[in-house]
Amino acid sequence: MVRAVVGANWGDEGKGKITDMLAEKSDIIVRFQGGSNAGHTIVNDYGKFALHILPSGIFYSHTTCVIGNGVAFNVSDFFKEINDVVSSGVPKPRILISDRAQIVMPYHIMFDTYEEERLAGKSFGSTKSGIAPFYSDKYSKIGFQVSELFDEETLVEKVNRVCELKNIMIEHLYHKEPVNKDELIKTLHEYRDMVEPYVCDTALFLQNAIKEGKTILLEGQLGTLKDPDFGIYPMVTSSHTLAAYGAIGAGIPPYEIKDIITVVKAYSSAVGAGEFVSEIFGDEADELRRRGGDGGEFGATTGRPRRMGWFDCVATKYGCRMQGATQVAFTVLDVLGYLDEIPVCVGYEIDGRVTKDFPVTCKLKKAKPVYEILPGWKSDIRGISKYEDLPENCRKYIEFIEKEIGVRITMVSNGPARHDIIFR
Ligand code: GDP
Repeated sequence: MVRAVVGANWGDEGKGKITDMLAEKSDIIVRFQGGSNAGHTIVNDYGKFALHILPSGIFYSHTTCVIGNGVAFNVSDFFKEINDVVSSGVPKPRILISDRAQIVMPYHIMFDTYEEERLAGKSFGSTKSGIAPFYSDKYSKIGFQVSELFDEETLVEKVNRVCELKNIMIEHLYHKEPVNKDELIKTLHEYRDMVEPYVCDTALFLQNAIKEGKTILLEGQLGTLKDPDFGIYPMVTSSHTLAAYGAIGAGIPPYEIKDIITVVKAYSSAVGAGEFVSEIFGDEADELRRRGGDGGEFGATTGRPRRMGWFDCVATKYGCRMQGATQVAFTVLDVLGYLDEIPVCVGYEIDGRVTKDFPVTCKLKKAKPVYEILPGWKSDIRGISKYEDLPENCRKYIEFIEKEIGVRITMVSNGPARHDIIFR
């Protein structure tokens, strides 16, 4: 049985918490896209962790975690994170790395930084983790697969060939120091020795696990609105954030993904640039940011303040539809307990017409939010474990949104910890 846990919005919906919780009853947790550019924050019995590249299932001794072939694999971040969790008392996790995953090279990170510098005010708000240069190279067929680390002849030939190209760009476009080939080969040899114990054909491993009836979780990074095809292009990430991509990024048949748990946050937040129709500003935004998430809405990787907004039914309905959501986990609802009234965006006005269908970016730029105002519940809902015990206005908020987005909300998260969850 394969399930995906994915985001309906701009990311930071609380997928990490939901994955950590569901991992308790899962055998295998797989990262299938993205890299160490976004973070999942997890609070459990071992403490509070910000994971970037490790799957959020590493906290149990019965699970195996997989870095799938679709991931932008940053070797040094991976080992740093393992060391961090193990030194916090978490038992050494069982992890497998796909022999077909590709490696984030040191020059990918350099290119990301140089390009953001070059674009200055017009930059994409990249986290400078090398993700865009990494995926560009993957599809330009000059990326480095983990398997190639173990074939010296191919490796050296490729380093020579790729460095020639990279150094022309570095010298003539960015006017920086060229890449030293010998140093790069040395680094790749180090990577080879570090990853060797973990590398295997993870697609085969997962397909066998499916046959044996194991429970597998695919953990998505970011959300629908950051997908390169269906998101707010060009302000998107460089790998697909949709559950459908889980089949490719993990190497399993698409029909095996039976359940798509789409994580939806009770208000909106976004990092980086790009269209955000229900965005709010000033004191109103500051207060929500300060109260949001677990200790404020600041990026888990970058520490950047997140942009804030009211719940957007148009974006979320679309976000769920493109994921193919079978159920919704509705998170961070406890944060809204301070509000007298809660605006909810129920439509976009574009050129004088109101629509509930999320449009392409050039139309989105013109969209103005149409709000409906719902009454707040003015109380703290943390600690409540039964749906019926939630205040009436809180239940009305959930049920209103459920109707607008058209997918059943089966879980309501009312706190950052593993067991702060209400099943419906
Ligand atoms: P992810 O990338 O989707 O895993 O999300 P992040 O970890 O970036 O952001 C979610 C933030 O909200 C983290 O700080 C979580 O600890 C926190 N969080 C998750 N669920 C809840 C919840 O129900 N209530 C509160 N207050 N915080 C939550």
